[in-house]
Amino acid sequence: MALSPELLDRFKQCAGHGGWTLDPDRIAPHLREWRDRYHGATPIMLMPDNRDAVASIIRLAAETRTPIVPQGGNTGLVGGQIPHPNGEELLIWMGRMNKVRSIDTNNNTLTVEAGAILTQVQEAAAAQDRFFPLSLASEGSAQIGGLISTNAGGTAVLAYGTMRDLVLGLEAVLPDGSIINALSGLRKDNTGYDIVRLLTGAEGTLGIITAATLKLFPQPRATFVAIAGVASPASAISLLTLMKADAGAMLTGFELMPRLGLEFVLRHIASARDPLSHIHPWYVLIELSLSGGASDRLLEIALARAIEEGLAGDAVIAQSAQQARDFWRLREALSEAQKFEGGSIKHDVSVPISAMPRFVDEATQAVLQAVPGARPIPFGHVGDGNVHFNVSQPVNTDRGSFVARWDEINDIVHGIASELGGSISAEHGIGQMKATEIIGYKDPGTLAAMRAIKRALDPQGIMNPGKIFPRD
Ligand SMILES: Cc1cc2nc3c(=O)[nH]c(=O)nc-3n(C[C@H](O)[C@H](O)[C@H](O)COP(=O)(O)OP(=O)(O)OC[C@H]3O[C@@H](n4cnc5c(N)ncnc54)[C@H](O)[C@@H]3O)c2cc1C
Repeated sequence: MALSPELLDRFKQCAGHGGWTLDPDRIAPHLREWRDRYHGATPIMLMPDNRDAVASIIRLAAETRTPIVPQGGNTGLVGGQIPHPNGEELLIWMGRMNKVRSIDTNNNTLTVEAGAILTQVQEAAAAQDRFFPLSLASEGSAQIGGLISTNAGGTAVLAYGTMRDLVLGLEAVLPDGSIINALSGLRKDNTGYDIVRLLTGAEGTLGIITAATLKLFPQPRATFVAIAGVASPASAISLLTLMKADAGAMLTGFELMPRLGLEFVLRHIASARDPLSHIHPWYVLIELSLSGGASDRLLEIALARAIEEGLAGDAVIAQSAQQARDFWRLREALSEAQKFEGGSIKHDVSVPISAMPRFVDEATQAVLQAVPGARPIPFGHVGDGNVHFNVSQPVNTDRGSFVARWDEINDIVHGIASELGGSISAEHGIGQMKATEIIGYKDPGTLAAMRAIKRALDPQGIMNPGKIFPRD
């Protein structure tokens, strides 16, 4: 049902001066997501700049049963931040709540509002000689509230964990408009249910995060990045084991790339250069962040051992900060480069690290059997057992008819991941994209508990409807 002008006026009052817009041109970029898969509509975009305004908006939404969709940087990849196309849901954009509230260098914590962008937080930590480790290709746009709500992963999970491991406390507004003030900087606090962890990864379905207290770390003394050529995913896993043994927690990145993916990057990204003189079927990007008295030669020595033991065919260590960035760019440009190769069907799965080679092999065979000539590009955070198994369309075929097989190919790949004890969403979440599919994969007992929590906190179902759980 369309929202009446009177009700919209009441929401405008809650949002305060400068806290709303009806301008379709301003709203339009917030209604389609990065991959252009989901398009929404809304009569108004609310843009509160303080917690109390958020609470008053949500109280009014609860009173009038008006559905609300929270949005941060709009970089989510499962459509969680996009309202329904029927135009009956309000969009609440958090970008104006973007202040760093405080930094405690003795406690190694930073308290920040939810609309702050990740690079802003990284820079604020660095200015105090501290390190905030979360890092991902969308870090120039993704907001802290969105990163927490999706429990974002990224490239440093191996050493520092996902967002859930980096959040100590939260301030949030629940679906009845009440405020949770749990901005604790405590590393130990066994006083009942862990609401902070519950809201982390809830994709805006249990409330709106307005601020967070995050863990900081000492700045690494030095960072070294290398690319090694390996024969297979199995060799990559053996190399990972060797690196973990030699570098322990100083191993901060371990990313897999297939040769075909690298060729896409070399073909389509202007600045990209082939990192090694010989061609290898697979490549691994390795990052060590050294602390204390660790030798600057640690990576070199470990790689020499890997080559001697036949785990890597060849390797090169970046000789400058620019070259290190160039190596990371090869990895981070993979998705972007794939766009130039026509349609691609995406997967974000995780399996136990030991099962990764079998997953890549079985999924590749099964996809090729279903679509001869398809070009699987399995890449990603293999050190976490997380692979983005993205399948590019066969050369010189119709994009539309390939992409139309999205669900069929998802079923194949997700089925194999599940059989190997894996997850159909390693780091991107459920959103609207997998809200129906998850029912077939998640343990029924866990699903029932999730539904009970949703009903208890949001009995009217106004917080981000149709996300995580399908619409009725
Ligand atoms: C190029 C690219 C690379 C990426 N790489 C990675 C990667 O390596 N690892 C990874 O994990 N993800 C990755 N992502 C996905 C994405 O960046 C993350 O999911 C990110 O956490 C989303 O943050 P956002 O601020 O853009 O949130 P949005 O996209 O705006 O929202 C995401 C979800 O959070 C909810 N939400 C947003 N703000 C709030 C709030 N304040 N309170 C409550 N709910 C809220 C929304 O309703 C939605 O459900 C990538 C995306 C892109 C485009």
